[in-house]
Amino acid sequence: MIKAITGTKDILPSDISKWYFLENLIKKIFSKFNYKEIRTPIFENTSLFARGIGEATDIVSKEMYTFLDRSGESLTLRPELTASVVRALIEHSLEKKQSLNKLFYIGPMFRQERPQAGRYRQFHQFGAESIGSNDPLLDAEMIIMAFDILAQLGLKNLEVKINSLGVPSEREDYKNVLREYLKSHLSNLSEESKKRFETNVLRIFDSKDERDIEIMKHAPLLINYLKDESLSHFETVKSTLKKANVNFSVDSSLVRGLDYYTHTTFEIVSKSVGSQSALCGGGRYNGLVKELGGSDLPGVGFAAGMERILLACENENVLSIPEDKIDLYIITLDKTKSELSYNIAISLRRKNLTVELDYLLRSVKAQMREANKLNAKYVLFVGGEELKNNEVVLKNMLNSEQENISLNEIEKLIKKIGE
Ligand code: AMP
Repeated sequence: MIKAITGTKDILPSDISKWYFLENLIKKIFSKFNYKEIRTPIFENTSLFARGIGEATDIVSKEMYTFLDRSGESLTLRPELTASVVRALIEHSLEKKQSLNKLFYIGPMFRQERPQAGRYRQFHQFGAESIGSNDPLLDAEMIIMAFDILAQLGLKNLEVKINSLGVPSEREDYKNVLREYLKSHLSNLSEESKKRFETNVLRIFDSKDERDIEIMKHAPLLINYLKDESLSHFETVKSTLKKANVNFSVDSSLVRGLDYYTHTTFEIVSKSVGSQSALCGGGRYNGLVKELGGSDLPGVGFAAGMERILLACENENVLSIPEDKIDLYIITLDKTKSELSYNIAISLRRKNLTVELDYLLRSVKAQMREANKLNAKYVLFVGGEELKNNEVVLKNMLNSEQENISLNEIEKLIKKIGE
């Protein structure tokens, strides 16, 4: 038997309503903030992600699904979407048509991680990117949108963490201070962090190693090395969030090690999902568009993991999805009248009703069972004595009331069922 690849999941019909619900909410909230959907290809040139996410990141160095196609070109299944969105913006000169581009996306991403609850190899993200303005109100807008989506799902155990990374020159000064501090602890750092000391010292804050965590607890903080302009940007983000009733805490260990990240970074974690607790993360990336060959445009964005969000909803028992229902189930009493049942079904479906009927030549009892299983609001009996008078019998499953309806009065039927 061939099975699905480890770390990938089938979304079965029994789960699809949750996905529709989440997708509809995402689209609704993004559209209220006037974000427009963008759909980019599933695979791109490997160099886009190497440059756009950064060679030193775990994603690029360890997790990408990269392959050579038949012409020998190196392609990669998208591990996230910011780089692709920025590529599309540059390629189509979107900034010339619209000085501020507010974009959102929903779709599958691919990373070869060690699978566990809340961590998959194909997973789904939604996210937004706002490209063209350095306004801190947009940093806050990202956090507010992400928070609103999670809050409207009914999630409660949420924690919003924010930080500021300032601008590259401030970070360079700070990195020297941090390295100076770490020099005396170098021999006690984990092997991974020793490497990061050379390649990407800020990322030592991301280490999960107990010894590293202890050492980093006492490290000097970037926030103390930011100048007035960066501090004021951060203050605006914080005061805007307060006014919008989004509770947050400042977490100075929230860093991103790449030069094009600037100012705000944020993460929303849930206490309801175990170790993989980050539901979404994002931040400002004023250097990225230029890094990818476009003009010097500032941007800010975030991405959220849909499987993890649905897991949090399940654990907090908050998603109340209405049960699936159909409008009508047609029960064929006399098998020779199957074609009539079928034709009625087609014409009612064309009138926007959800209609099912039997395709398995089942007994009347079995058809009735099926109607109940499908939560049919009405049942239509076709083929009884009434048919001699050109009539069918409509039964309201809620109150069991029955009514004969002439086949010449199909409009009446539609009206009744559609009520
Ligand atoms: P990132 O792009 O790494 O900042 O991730 C953004 C969000 O995507 C995370 O907060 C998770 O909710 C989700 N995510 C990232 N990687 C995975 C994965 N392997 N499986 C499931 N969700 C993921």
